[in-house]
Amino acid sequence: MLENNGFTDNFEDALLEIEYAFENISFFRDHMIQAGLTPKDIKSPEDFLKIPPTTKRHYRKNFPLGTLAKGVTLKDPALYRTQSSGTTGERLISVEYGYIFLERAINSISVNPDLFSAFTSEPRKHCIYSAPNCSDVECSNPNSTMKSRTLNDGSLVLSVYHDLLTTPDKIYTQNLEEIDIYEPELFYTDPTHLAHLSKKMIEFKYTPPQVPIILTFTQSNQLNKKHILKAFKQNSKLARVMSMTEFGFIAVECPMKRMHANTSSYYLEFIVNGKPAKKGELAELYITSYYQGCMPHIRYKTGDLYRVLDEKCECGHEFPVVEIEGRISNMFFGDNSIKLTPNELDQIVGAPDWLELYKLHQSENDFFTFSYITNENYKKGSEDYIKEELIKCLGENVTIKFENVPYIPSARGGKYQFCSSNVGEQLLNEGFSI
Ligand SMILES: [Zn+2]
Repeated sequence: MLENNGFTDNFEDALLEIEYAFENISFFRDHMIQAGLTPKDIKSPEDFLKIPPTTKRHYRKNFPLGTLAKGVTLKDPALYRTQSSGTTGERLISVEYGYIFLERAINSISVNPDLFSAFTSEPRKHCIYSAPNCSDVECSNPNSTMKSRTLNDGSLVLSVYHDLLTTPDKIYTQNLEEIDIYEPELFYTDPTHLAHLSKKMIEFKYTPPQVPIILTFTQSNQLNKKHILKAFKQNSKLARVMSMTEFGFIAVECPMKRMHANTSSYYLEFIVNGKPAKKGELAELYITSYYQGCMPHIRYKTGDLYRVLDEKCECGHEFPVVEIEGRISNMFFGDNSIKLTPNELDQIVGAPDWLELYKLHQSENDFFTFSYITNENYKKGSEDYIKEELIKCLGENVTIKFENVPYIPSARGGKYQFCSSNVGEQLLNEGFSI
């Protein structure tokens, strides 16, 4: 077990949340009773492991009555509502008091001073650029106006096309004009989308404002980052943010490029085989919320895998250092066990100068397709090192088809993920646990 890592520092708050949820959330009360537990049975972090994890399924099935605290109604104007983009089936709706979402974000972002000042400055000038359905405004209609894409908090959502690689230049030109008019102080973006906009910035000889950039929505990789930095230059202003619809910000990259998990807003557990992970072990994040809000989560199984690095970061922040490996639904499997994670694939592929975009897809247990778009620097055999490493990870008995293509489609909903796996998605839906 990991020691002195800060994860159990606020354990008392987690105990209060259990008591609160038991009294106020009907589905959670039933969940505990079915497991033969009451809050009195939970006194230590070890006892905590006895509570069966809660999942998305519980929140979908029992929303809103069974998941909202007694006395709260959806009409309460202080509530902030979020919904998942729903790429894996039904959408998940979450609500929480706005101030709780904000406090979580501010605590998370405290690891990065540049980001912190841009994020908290008023009036808010955040420019959002991501797949459609990332917000409640219509951003996929090219004829929509800037005004119609400005959110209540002042953020501007840039127009996006439903399929990234077929985006007409007209939309990119409009995006760049709007950036000039709006003068953002922060970009809040999807890494693949921003990488493509960055290429257009170079092509159109456009210099973007050198303000901090948040990379979130989907997992980032080195290739995207390389393309973004050709236009935006300042690596120090680029930070990955791990966020979930259910909670908001969870982990943020510090100036030393380490992800720090927010242990002051949540009780975080990294679990493998039902137990806390050892240092460096691949583990699933379970989150218990604090604050006794309107929709508490106890031991919520996130479906996201991490490694706890358990080391001091030179930035000096006390939040523990973790690395994100990816969502279970994007992992590559063999014999029902994980053979390769999106982060590991990123480490293999890297950001070679001949590569523009890539995607690894697992369609069946023993069938993988690596699709890639190349540029003029490509030479026959450039991709051989990727083939060799993939065979090492995935095994000699599977088929890995390599396709050098001019186009790779986005997923339904416009998201582009560099890893996708039918096997991972199915296993996640069946409740896979590492
Ligand atoms: Zn750090």
